[in-house]
Amino acid sequence: MSSKTIQVSIPADAEGYVSFQCPHCEQRFKLGADEFEDSDAINLFCPSCGLAHELDHFYSKEFIDKAMSIVEQEAMEMIYNMFKGLERKNRGNKFVKFKTGSKPKVYIKEMYENIDELVEAELKCCKKHLKVTVLDRLIGVYCSYCGVKNDFE
Ligand SMILES: [Zn+2]
Ligand SMILES: [Zn+2]
Repeated sequence: MSSKTIQVSIPADAEGYVSFQCPHCEQRFKLGADEFEDSDAINLFCPSCGLAHELDHFYSKEFIDKAMSIVEQEAMEMIYNMFKGLERKNRGNKFVKFKTGSKPKVYIKEMYENIDELVEAELKCCKKHLKVTVLDRLIGVYCSYCGVKNDFE
C-alpha cells in the first residue's frame, strides 16, 4: 500500500495574512503569510495572552475543517480510482460486473475569513506584521515569534 501526502496550504486574506487561533485563550489573530513562512517558527506566542505552544496547535478551526474535507475528497478519489481499476480489469469477465458511477464530489467548506475586526500592527522587535483585535492593539501585544511585549501608541 503506497502512502500519499496531502498538502493543505493555509489560505491568506486579501492583505496576505493567515489566520490562527490561540489554543489557550482562543483569541484569533493573523500573521503576515510571507513573514510567517520565512520564520520557520516551531512555536508561536499568542499576541493576546503571551503563552507559547507548538505551531500546529494554533491552526484555526476553519483551517482544520478545510484540511479535513480535502483529505476526505482525496480518499474518495482513491476509492473511486480503485473501483475504476477493478471495472477495467473485469471487463471481459461474465460473472463479475463492476460499474463505477459518476465521480463523488465533496463540498470543500469555504474559509470564513474576516469574521473578526482585526487591525494591522508592526512588531518592533522582529519587524514583522500581525493582525490583532482593536483592544489588543490598544493594550499592547506579545510578538508571535519572540514573545516580547510590544506597545503601540
Ligand atoms: Zn492566547
Ligand atoms: Zn519579536
